[in-house]
Amino acid sequence: MQDFLQQTLSGETPQPQSGENPQLRWQWWDEGILELTPHQPTRQAIVISAGLHGNETAPVEILNQLMTQLLKGEKALVPRILVILGNPAALRADKRYIRCDINRMFGGRWQQYEDCPEARRAWRLEQAMETFWQAGDHVEVCWHIDLHTAIRGSYHPRFGVLPLNQREWPENFMQWLSAAGLEALVFHRAPAGTFTHYSCEHFNAASCTLELGKAQPFGENDLSQFAAAKQALASLLFGEPLPQNEETPRRYRVSQQITRSSDAFILHMNAETLNFTAFPQGTLLAEDGEKRYYVQQAREYVLFPNPHVAPGLRAGLMLVEDNAHNKTTGS
Ligand SMILES: [Zn+2]
Repeated sequence: MQDFLQQTLSGETPQPQSGENPQLRWQWWDEGILELTPHQPTRQAIVISAGLHGNETAPVEILNQLMTQLLKGEKALVPRILVILGNPAALRADKRYIRCDINRMFGGRWQQYEDCPEARRAWRLEQAMETFWQAGDHVEVCWHIDLHTAIRGSYHPRFGVLPLNQREWPENFMQWLSAAGLEALVFHRAPAGTFTHYSCEHFNAASCTLELGKAQPFGENDLSQFAAAKQALASLLFGEPLPQNEETPRRYRVSQQITRSSDAFILHMNAETLNFTAFPQGTLLAEDGEKRYYVQQAREYVLFPNPHVAPGLRAGLMLVEDNAHNKTTGS
């Protein structure tokens, strides 16, 4: 196998299901799940996922280009990696999802959904992650990088979302996120059903959801926008120097979540509202029957506004800029 994406889109089981080249061994685990193991011992075990949302194709293309170089034996592999194309059925359909948003189902939340392709897939991906990290001896670097694109345009076209974490984030992980060209980092303050929250909570992984630009169909992505992210991934996989990035990402933390709880839900933003649009204190953001959402802090920024979610799910996040941190780093 040389093209993991084409193989996955074909829906067929590869023959053979494992192989090796002078650099590495590969093992196909299941549809869209591939393990690559370098011949030399390593204490790094990294999960890289993309395509949890089937219409977010740019990172899938970037990741597949790197996988093809590895599968052809053109590049050395440093860490053991598990590569995941999250929702193959949705990728084939070029849709965000078939029935339900898989990136709200992790941590066992899939059990609360009626049987659907995404619920079964979330369970399978949780199992795969557990198998992968339990297999390694003395794993010192345990990272999960989940690649996405946003539905909307954004004041920060490239940003990372980090799950709730009681521990300090590893210094080398933060350096890597900066080198990947991210303009902003958003820190969650509450649990969520995302893949990165699951990996961080259950396996102590350093996890980040990378949002790289806006969703476009396969072949219509301007991959040059993502050069730094691709180069940072390449340096992680191939052991090459990290790209230089002078900019320190701005830091935001979640101040409140807007949840759609009924059919009466109204979001007071239009379809053109960009991610990281600022609103002053007191602005009415949304209403849901009796419930009103207002900007509570002096200034809050919206992230992922989406009124079209199923009841009970997140219709947007409000952020505050983490000025204390930004001051100490001089940005
Ligand atoms: Zn996504």
